[in-house]
Amino acid sequence: MDANATTPLLPEVLEAMHPFWIETFGNASSIHQPGQHARAAVDHARESMARLLHCRASEVVFTSGGTESDNLALFGVLQPSPPERLHLITTGIEHHAVLHAAQALAAQSHACIDVTFLPCDSHGLVSPADLTASLRPNTRLVSVMLANNETGVIQPVRQLADIAHAAGALFHTDAVQAAGKLPLDVSALGCDLLSISGHKMYAPQGTGVLYVRRSVRLAPLFHGGTHERQRRAGTENVPGIVGLGRAAELAQQWIVEDRPADGPTHLASLRDELEQGLLQQIDEAGINGYGAPRVANTTNLYFDHVEAEALVIALDLKGLSVSGGSACQSGATEPSHVLSEMGLTPARARASIRLSLSRMTTAEDVRDALTLIPSAVVRLRDLSPSYRRSRILASA
Ligand code: PLP
Repeated sequence: MDANATTPLLPEVLEAMHPFWIETFGNASSIHQPGQHARAAVDHARESMARLLHCRASEVVFTSGGTESDNLALFGVLQPSPPERLHLITTGIEHHAVLHAAQALAAQSHACIDVTFLPCDSHGLVSPADLTASLRPNTRLVSVMLANNETGVIQPVRQLADIAHAAGALFHTDAVQAAGKLPLDVSALGCDLLSISGHKMYAPQGTGVLYVRRSVRLAPLFHGGTHERQRRAGTENVPGIVGLGRAAELAQQWIVEDRPADGPTHLASLRDELEQGLLQQIDEAGINGYGAPRVANTTNLYFDHVEAEALVIALDLKGLSVSGGSACQSGATEPSHVLSEMGLTPARARASIRLSLSRMTTAEDVRDALTLIPSAVVRLRDLSPSYRRSRILASA
């Protein structure tokens, strides 16, 4: 139950990639037949991705993943020519791929970029009024994620994009945790740039896409060949791109068909069953982000008086993989920046875990989790002096 960290390949994705490793390998820039075969496969994948995003194939830039896509969006758009100063608005709840990129832009030696980090409310939602109040005449880019990796909370991206555009700024959204879960239409979302990562949508790790609206001028991060219409130099990862294209087709099908036993509605019902079952069995617990729109597969829960790290390890020993914060942060002991921004106390943020289901999660998996998690929480709370104190107070 850690699908927001990464997902396995769908068998159809592996099958599509298979010939491109050995049998029909080629450099997509070569003019001979193997090269042209690879080029055709990349073009086909680009069209599949364009259908998922409802954009032109020429607006799809293949990258090495979500981190690169986010960095390319921010660094690619924010190219000040000194003494010009540019302003970037993003949020305090972004993935580190955006957060740290924004901090790096602000810290650049020529320091011509100012960054504003918007807060969120207790549900994890960013306020359009805050965005309006933060805009400046030199705001060049607004970057707000579509779905949060820790809580699954979905931001009002269309509204935020309209506000950015009215002020003459471009709008980027990190849709890494939305792709394959929500229908994505770049025009309906109103974004100029949108990031996707393959390994969150049943395609291989190390693959991704940045959608770049045709009118956007983007400076490349890498210098080299003219690949990806000069927006991303480097020989294409043909097998990876083929897998990502196939995953885009399957994602589109899964979302549109929404079959009773295998679709977003079914996944949301498994997630809801998990949440309700846990809250029925465990006291002093709750859902972070509850009440806000959320993607179907994600829940973030706190179990007061429990250290999430200890819970993650206890569950791992029982064969249940979950996350205490975003996977990229694991090992760090600071409370999650997302939960802190939402106003959770450090203790409650440290008592929070994320469960993220995948298309492969079954009703039986949920039943198992509903046994394993409550018993692990009980065992850990037995060792917790603060829980004992709270019980004594409750019974007094
Ligand atoms: N953005 C979000 C919201 C993510 O959840 C992640 C990964 O967890 C990334 C960006 C980075 O993607 P990648 O792992 O492909 O670099």
